[in-house]
Amino acid sequence: MSKFLNKKYCLLEAYTPGEQPQDKKYIKLNTNESPYPPSQGVLEAINGSQVSLLNLYPDPECKELRRNIAAHYGVTESNVFVGNGSDDILNFAFMAFCGRDSEAAFPDISYGFYKVYAELHGIPYKEIPLTESLEVAAQDYIGINKNVFIANPNAPTGLTLSIDEISKICESNRDYIVLIDEAYVDFGAESSASLTQKYGNLITVMTYSKSRSMAGSRLGFAIANEELVKDLEKIKYSTNPYSINRLTNLAGIAAIKDSAYYEENCKKIVETREFTKSELKKLGFEMTDSKSNFIFAKNSRIGGEELYKKLKDNGILVRHFSKARIKDYVRITVGTREQMEILLNVIKGII
Ligand code: PMP
Repeated sequence: MSKFLNKKYCLLEAYTPGEQPQDKKYIKLNTNESPYPPSQGVLEAINGSQVSLLNLYPDPECKELRRNIAAHYGVTESNVFVGNGSDDILNFAFMAFCGRDSEAAFPDISYGFYKVYAELHGIPYKEIPLTESLEVAAQDYIGINKNVFIANPNAPTGLTLSIDEISKICESNRDYIVLIDEAYVDFGAESSASLTQKYGNLITVMTYSKSRSMAGSRLGFAIANEELVKDLEKIKYSTNPYSINRLTNLAGIAAIKDSAYYEENCKKIVETREFTKSELKKLGFEMTDSKSNFIFAKNSRIGGEELYKKLKDNGILVRHFSKARIKDYVRITVGTREQMEILLNVIKGII
């Protein structure tokens, strides 16, 4: 830390992203990326003639992209906000809707960025403990009268809330926003996107990084009431109006048009998840009922950190979190069937 850093950031603990090693080739099961490449349409959309236009700024409104996303989710373009990854949108939501007199609430074990954004912007927040069985208890958020941030499915557990529970949270917190982070929704949970027509305080946030195989291009979107979209745009236009670059914009349009390909991939990932879980169970693992593209697993014969390290020594990267309640677990991204078979063999050798 230099002597120049603004005092308000001195104690800020930044988010630690999962490892992205550039030196050695690992079987990479640590940051919930898709093991499948983008669709043919995406590969074709980013061609030489589009690259040659990079001297020009992109469309700051991303009109065509938003129109395509809106059509896919049965809403209108004015209900869609796009950002540079869903992280960008989460950050904007904390900036736009939270403050000293409008606190935030989120689960104590969830996506680590919620706490970082609250701290970054000096927003008071309440961390609500998960239940014994690591679930988000909907009743804890009913009438809480704070801005609610919930990942559904939650990370790193993969556990879900029902649409009915989300409705009740929205209904009982009318003067606050309810942001449902659906980064993993396409792997088996129910989306709250259609509820945004009914609840003017609901923001459903999704990403192209997981089910749409585009983590490297940074694209996320939110679906919400037009007024909320305008509020998010106000923040975007006060920071970086061109946050979606030309190539990402085109890739995003093409990917939505190729939805059948991505749905097929999600199906394969869900099948591979269930196969891997049943094999891990035979090896004595306990797992949450994950509805996402990762498995959250522990085994009484080996600690989470030790398993993480031994897998890494064997060329497989998974994620370990040091928080007390979940330190026995590892989070394993679901890769291809072949990758998971290698993982299972390596684990057999380790334990
Ligand atoms: N929300 C959750 C719950 C996540 O796990 C992630 C991925 N790290 C994100 C949001 C952010 O994804 P991205 O910025 O790549 O869209």
